[in-house]
Amino acid sequence: MKAHDGMYIDGAWRPAAGPGVIEVVNPADEQVIATVPAGTVEDVDAAVRAARAALPGWAATPPAERAARLAALRDVLVARQDEIAETVTAELGSPPKLSQTVHAGVPIAVTGSYAELAATYAFEERTGNSTVLHEPVGVVGAITPWNYPLHQIVAKTAPALAAGCTVVVKPAEDTPLVARLFAEAVHEAGIPAGVFNLVTGLGPVAGQALAEHPGVDLVSFTGSTAVGRRIGAIASGMVKKVALELGGKSANVILPGADLARAVNVGVANVMSNSGQTCSAWTRMLVHHDQYDEAVELAAAAAAKYGDRIGPLVSATQRDRVRGYIAKGVAEGARLAAGGPDSPHERGYYVSPTVFADVTPEMTIAQEEIFGPVLSVLRYTDEEDALRIANGTVYGLAGAVWAADETEAVAFARRMETGQVDINGGRFNPLAPFGGYKQSGVGRELGAHGLAEYLQTKSFQF
Ligand code: NAP
Ligand code: MG
Repeated sequence: MKAHDGMYIDGAWRPAAGPGVIEVVNPADEQVIATVPAGTVEDVDAAVRAARAALPGWAATPPAERAARLAALRDVLVARQDEIAETVTAELGSPPKLSQTVHAGVPIAVTGSYAELAATYAFEERTGNSTVLHEPVGVVGAITPWNYPLHQIVAKTAPALAAGCTVVVKPAEDTPLVARLFAEAVHEAGIPAGVFNLVTGLGPVAGQALAEHPGVDLVSFTGSTAVGRRIGAIASGMVKKVALELGGKSANVILPGADLARAVNVGVANVMSNSGQTCSAWTRMLVHHDQYDEAVELAAAAAAKYGDRIGPLVSATQRDRVRGYIAKGVAEGARLAAGGPDSPHERGYYVSPTVFADVTPEMTIAQEEIFGPVLSVLRYTDEEDALRIANGTVYGLAGAVWAADETEAVAFARRMETGQVDINGGRFNPLAPFGGYKQSGVGRELGAHGLAEYLQTKSFQF
């Protein structure tokens, strides 16, 4: 990791305006591994000014050239994949293999997809006697969380750059190192000065200053519902565009006739991956009462197998929060089938893979986002009951349906109030729109739908 003292603003690493620093901790051993500057209102202002100054030039750059820069960025991310993976392992605690394939691999795929979309997207179209232009929204303020630290940055930056927008990113305080690595990659890829800017810092200081800055046209936020609400209020008060990705409590619905063992094993892996710190994780498993005991047994065995392969949570705060939810589950009468509140290691912010049985839909662990390796298994009596439970939270981000055949699974999935559903184990698709129904958020990321979020329309009548 190269040491920088400053912020990446206007194509260069500049000293931060204030003396404050943030310590970055390795959650596996609790050691401080680096410090980064804590950005202030002045740093954010300098970054937004740089982004505004760069906007006319980048917006007027032909899409083919923007595509070429994104392709170059993708190549740099490929060349630095090992370094990215090591950095994410160090600051997030994710196991090396997950860091390689997901934390470094997915951003490569997403950047590549936007290189292609920038080259092929119809930025102009005809309707009747009009020409409709799809123009960049302007300066984007991106505020990102720590759970997929590079992916969250790339899922906003790549479409914004493809659209012709310029960007200021405020990454999560817990994972600023991979964000700095990304700024280096942007620089190496020859993306012009000011098009991408990075200000590390604390949410209530740098994040809030970015959301409130009058030079920002669109605020794109991923994180907690509480902060998302505040950002939405700030943005609407200033008549800015806003995109919010706020997490979920997704249902994994196993219909009678499905391959039960596969549905349970894939479902457990989905929840335990990244130590449960995934907004789209299927943290509620819904099983028919006839198969319930068997499913709980399978889930407990699958969770126990995860044992030592699971990484720590990102911070002591998150570990304590998750352990608090486990204690609450027990207090509200759910039964621990695997794991529990005790830490499996002396050092590091670990939580055991945990499975709760006898969970009822109104329990806290069936309603609130826990953001840890905790699965709740719920029982349903028939399909209508399953649908009521599946749709019975304030969230609607993702989900899964397993049935004897695809037609039956799709029929059920059509009735789910959620943004993404995997049918009988469908694979992640970086081109599919990702985002929430209900309180899971506003807007979509990834693919052509994600690009459209960074465009506004103008029409000429002839
Ligand atoms: P968070 O506070 O919402 O953090 C998300 C981002 O917003 C971070 O960059 C954060 O900065 C920033 N932020 C915080 N307060 C802000 C403010 N007043 N104005 C502007 N920006 C602000 O989330 P968290 O505390 O890290 O995690 C808490 C819970 O949120 C988790 O347990 C989970 O339930 C949920 N979460 C959801 C997702 C998701 O993908 N939907 C991701 C992460 C967390 P700092 O890093 O400095 O706080
Ligand atoms: Mg926070």
